[in-house]
Amino acid sequence: MKISRRGLLKFTGFSIVAMTALPRMAFAARNSLRGLRTGVQPGNKSRLVIETANRPSYSLSYPENQLVVTLSNTGANNSIQPKLAADALVKSVVQTQVGDKLQIIANLKKPIAEIQKSSILLLEPNGDNDYRLVLDFVAGTTPKSYTTTSATQTTAITAARKYIIVIDAGHGGKDPGCIGRGGTREKDIVLSVARKLKNKLDSNGFKTYLTRDSDKYLRLAERANIAEKRKADLFISLHANANPSRKMKGFSIYTLSEKASDEEARKLAEAENAADKIGVEGFTEFEENIRIALSSLQQHAVAEMSEEYANGCAKSFKRASIEQQPGPDVRHAPFAVLRSTVPGALLEIGHLSNTAEEKLLKTDKHQNKIVDAIVRSVKNYNFEV
Ligand SMILES: [Zn+2]
Repeated sequence: MKISRRGLLKFTGFSIVAMTALPRMAFAARNSLRGLRTGVQPGNKSRLVIETANRPSYSLSYPENQLVVTLSNTGANNSIQPKLAADALVKSVVQTQVGDKLQIIANLKKPIAEIQKSSILLLEPNGDNDYRLVLDFVAGTTPKSYTTTSATQTTAITAARKYIIVIDAGHGGKDPGCIGRGGTREKDIVLSVARKLKNKLDSNGFKTYLTRDSDKYLRLAERANIAEKRKADLFISLHANANPSRKMKGFSIYTLSEKASDEEARKLAEAENAADKIGVEGFTEFEENIRIALSSLQQHAVAEMSEEYANGCAKSFKRASIEQQPGPDVRHAPFAVLRSTVPGALLEIGHLSNTAEEKLLKTDKHQNKIVDAIVRSVKNYNFEV
């Protein structure tokens, strides 16, 4: 069996291997439909699986009591009989050819909630299966703005959709984070950068929320919970670093994994997670809920998207000539604040323990440079899988 890179990731659980974004097909042969089926998943979730010969490129829309998956450059295949699970929210599935696009229309028993990106998975071929686009959904209310019946309208409205970014300024209140030799506190620097980032992302058409907009203490679980509640598409946690070696400098970017990628990453996660020990409550209950709520497929999807974002973000920082801490572009560690269903990364924007960098991090000029690099990384991130 040929194991693809993406496939390999599935076997290793949360990615401990830095993954570069897969090249997107610039020119693709016409795709064809190979299978359609529905199923029921734990937590009253219904699942629609669309199997195709090639990697599908798709968009979703939610006309009344329907879920429409539009596959570009794909031909209908009328020999395919959908296999329908009795208890799923889907009554029937039909194919409609619209020009060179194939629409898979799932007629629903009830309206469904808009499908979160973390509930969409694209699986590589394996064994008897071709490419599979796996969509999990629950009954609910589709936001009015996504409820359209015309394909052209849908495109226009989807394009206008604002992606939601939650920006987390680390530490705060009784937890200052690390403190530079000159007295600069991590909590102040990251709040200043977070506010600038919010303004700039807002003016670029994103919808953003700050986990804190003042000098207050928030537990890590509360921060992750804000991302969940806001149904964020991306979570960015901002921190500044300290190292026993005062020579150490530069930014570093982290994603969540159960195992740290190196000893330094492990220590850093320990230090950042220790913020919670200042508080009364631990993280375990929320963490446990998340673990239960996430199917392993979703965990993989969230991990993959986080990797993709983090890699793009590292590139963006380097392009802006922001000094990078020696080491890999993306490191991994079990950061409590990243444990959620929202893809995201933790950005250590520089070292306060380095005197020169401490001075630099205090300046608006350097903060704006960092903000511009993050904004570019968000704009380049592919929110639609
Ligand atoms: Zn920190």
